[in-house]
Amino acid sequence: MHVARERPHERERLHRWYLANTEKVKAAAREWALEHPEKAREAAARCRARRRSKRRDDLRAWRAANPEKARELSREGSRRRRATNPERSREEQRAWRVANPGATRETYRAWRLANLERARILNRVGSSRRRTRKRGSGGSHTAAEWIALCWASAWRCAYCGDVLNEKTAQQEHKVPISRGGSDDIENIALSCKSCNSRKHSMTDVEFLQRRSVL
Ligand SMILES: [Zn+2]
Repeated sequence: MHVARERPHERERLHRWYLANTEKVKAAAREWALEHPEKAREAAARCRARRRSKRRDDLRAWRAANPEKARELSREGSRRRRATNPERSREEQRAWRVANPGATRETYRAWRLANLERARILNRVGSSRRRTRKRGSGGSHTAAEWIALCWASAWRCAYCGDVLNEKTAQQEHKVPISRGGSDDIENIALSCKSCNSRKHSMTDVEFLQRRSVL
């Protein structure tokens, strides 16, 4: 066997001979397998492993030669997996992260260095979300809910009554996030910039009381 591997000419000669005597070789192999079932099973397993490893090598080579296509294919595959079974895909990801803690850190670090701007923005969003979650407020509202609130409030500041527009209207938390207020639309008021900054960490009720006293 290794003679054939080391000498290409010999390999070609053997291959030609095999092509000319395929039936004879196969019959002999069948006979041998019947006489040595244990060895035959082992040989078949080795053969399967060799084919598997060749497929892996071929795939790896193809990926190296077509990096763009490979990335697109892999993205498509994970999109399909996510779409068909979102819960399982999330669980798999979690399990993989737990099993490869170093790898995820390395991957994130590399991604971060290549995408500093995006990393900064995501970090801000994440830390604000962590802050609201930590204070037990949480909640969220959509852009559509915010626009509906603007019209329902006749585009007027909830505190001084000034008329506002898309640019000047600010989203103000009636109970401030810092005091456990949520980001749900029920806790959002339309406010001008000046009232928003003067109200600071007061609740809407406290701020309106102070305004009526002054
Ligand atoms: Zn105002």
